[in-house]
Amino acid sequence: MNDIIEFDRKHIWHPYTSTINPLPVYEVKEANGVYITLENGQKLIDGMSSWWAALHGYNNPVLNNAVNQQIKKMSHIMFGGFTHKPAVELAKLILSLVPKELDKIFYADSGSVAVEVALKMAVQYWVAKGKKDKTNFVTIRSGYHGDTWNAMSVCDPVTGMHGLFGSALPIRYFIESPHIKFNQPWDESQMDELENLFKEKADEIAGFILEPVVQGAGGMKFYNPTFLSRARKLCDKYKVLLILDEIATGFGRTGKLFACEYANISPDIMCIGKALTGGYMTFSATLATDNVASTISSGNPAEFMHGPTFMGNPLACAVAKASIELLLSYDWKAKIKHIENKLKEGLSKAEEFEQVAEVRVLGAIGVIEMKKPVNMAVLQKRFVEEGIWVRPFGKLVYIMPPFIIENEELDKLINGLIKIVKEIK
Ligand SMILES: *Cc1c(COP(=O)(O)O)cnc(C)c1O
Repeated sequence: MNDIIEFDRKHIWHPYTSTINPLPVYEVKEANGVYITLENGQKLIDGMSSWWAALHGYNNPVLNNAVNQQIKKMSHIMFGGFTHKPAVELAKLILSLVPKELDKIFYADSGSVAVEVALKMAVQYWVAKGKKDKTNFVTIRSGYHGDTWNAMSVCDPVTGMHGLFGSALPIRYFIESPHIKFNQPWDESQMDELENLFKEKADEIAGFILEPVVQGAGGMKFYNPTFLSRARKLCDKYKVLLILDEIATGFGRTGKLFACEYANISPDIMCIGKALTGGYMTFSATLATDNVASTISSGNPAEFMHGPTFMGNPLACAVAKASIELLLSYDWKAKIKHIENKLKEGLSKAEEFEQVAEVRVLGAIGVIEMKKPVNMAVLQKRFVEEGIWVRPFGKLVYIMPPFIIENEELDKLINGLIKIVKEIK
């Protein structure tokens, strides 16, 4: 064990780990395009896009240039009392791409914070309308919305952290995750549970929050988009705000720029993050309709009560704008379709394995669900030996490669994945 790994092991926390017996970590030297180079010189093909974020791969010259140009002007300036071109130009661009009802943008620091902001907006909206009891939220099971307090409260109550944090968490309303899968025929009875809950409890419910079409870290499930259009109608009927968390799904990953386009609906509030800066730095935003923003602002207080220190960070805004422009500069839809076809073809080989429960693909997301939870440390090591970077969790072994991945690299990634999954007992 070298000094870096040893010090890391002794003193640094990694995501969801113990400090006494942490999972092994690999020392990365650099990353370029779709390749991650370890300190020992080994190159891995990236199958994770650093958790949905690095859609253009790593060390991209266009994004590097955007950061370099901006850093010469200013890396940061407080957003209280100031504004700047990067923030305004990014807002113009984003607002031209999201459903047109969304008209106001709040810049935040990370996905979890964008979710907190969304929940706060919803509560403040109803306070402004004199409905002080509408403070709770509904969500669907198997969701994931982040690790901060209130984001945690709307994560799946079983796979999330509810057991651990218990009574420290606010108690939310959970309905079943839509059981009708993406390609399965719609059945109206799917909406009964939500409608019954709204009928009974709408007086206490500020918002319905969910990930559109693709549920990410809570189970990598893809559901029928009609659920969203029906949910939109029910939210209107029962006066509940619809909050879509597009933090994982945004910016093309599912085959649409935003997953809500599958249902042709507009939420009242929407969160974006992850791929927003092309994976360069942490940044997120919460978008709202004019109705939501104006209602909040005609309340008492008239101010929306949130304002992070690094709000509207110019470096993040500049790289986000460059990343979105880069995405729009090529036929990304055709590229995602191509990746989707290759994932469907390649991963379907795993369907016949005894240990595999289901294979599913949507856009540039490929999922192999195992029958039993996998041993992450063992599997991770085997993937690295194969020259690919895949990080499974629970029963899920999945990939969502950078969009720039070429055929040969994608074949290697898929074949490596299939080979290792086949070995699992
Ligand atoms: C990752 C994620 C979050 C949390 O984002 P962080 O930047 O990790 O705080 C929230 N919602 C969804 C859907 C996510 O995938």
